[in-house]
Amino acid sequence: MTNWQQHEEQGMAAIESAASSEALEDVRVGLLGRKSELKLALREVRERETGALLNGIRTRLERRLAERERSLASAEIERRLREEVIDVTLPGEELLLGHLHPITQVRRTVEDAFLGLGYEVRDDREVETVEYNFDKLAFLPTHPARSPRDTFFFDEHRVLRTETSPSLIHALEQRSPPSYMVSIGRVYRRDAITATRYPIFHQFEGLAVDRGITLADLKGTLLHVMRALYGPERRVRFRTHFFPFTEPSIEPDVSCGICGGSGCRTCKFSGWIEMGGAGMVDPEVLSNVGLDPAEWGGFAFGCGLERTAQLRHDIPDIRALWEGDLRVLRQF
Ligand SMILES: [Zn+2]
Repeated sequence: MTNWQQHEEQGMAAIESAASSEALEDVRVGLLGRKSELKLALREVRERETGALLNGIRTRLERRLAERERSLASAEIERRLREEVIDVTLPGEELLLGHLHPITQVRRTVEDAFLGLGYEVRDDREVETVEYNFDKLAFLPTHPARSPRDTFFFDEHRVLRTETSPSLIHALEQRSPPSYMVSIGRVYRRDAITATRYPIFHQFEGLAVDRGITLADLKGTLLHVMRALYGPERRVRFRTHFFPFTEPSIEPDVSCGICGGSGCRTCKFSGWIEMGGAGMVDPEVLSNVGLDPAEWGGFAFGCGLERTAQLRHDIPDIRALWEGDLRVLRQF
């Protein structure tokens, strides 16, 4: 046996015993690499016979290397399939899911309740003109809300809206009644931050304008919404009050859900909880938008979403709704 035959046999043995693709690559470099014995010999060969012998060896080694490479690769795939089998019965990784903020939850409940009554839900600009925020809503020139102490003014004519009502006025001007709509969104007042007040808050304000509307329609509507928000057992009562753009004005109370009306800390032992303001639309407001008060009537009502969320979840401090503390928010 010549040295080269021996060399070939050793090479073949090395190829067969390479246990991984990496090991096989080392063998390939040793046998056929630029500095391998075979390559150096091929470079210097002069006789045709030796050249044919060496080329034959090279071809056979290359073929065996390719075969071995394929079998190692498929063995590798099989091993991985075996070892990396996924057990679909194992518990999966827990995904941390958040939930809607309590105010957003309340907002959507209110919207759903009104959509169910056929109302249009509106949001609108938060920067309003004095004309729409106060004048058209029949605020008297001396009303304290017109003062920069109570309201955020940009200049003489523009404010951060203090109610969602201006949106309703815009809508009334754009279309003819009958109109049934509710405006929901952020409003701003210059209040110091306390447990019960915050300079930014959310309101919903509803307005119905139609022929022959009475206080009974208002009461029925409020009862529907309060029950949607607080549960079917709730009752509603009205107390007289004053608001600039309604006449008569009332304050609706909803029966306390915590004590069922017998009296507790939340309802200050009265059995009732104040729910905002309401009333029949002042004829002057209707005239301001070009409607004849002799023909058209309407009712309006407003309520804070923060207060609603607080009552729903018994949250004593309004700041908890604005501070984004997950320990608090996770509870709702
Ligand atoms: Zn109570």
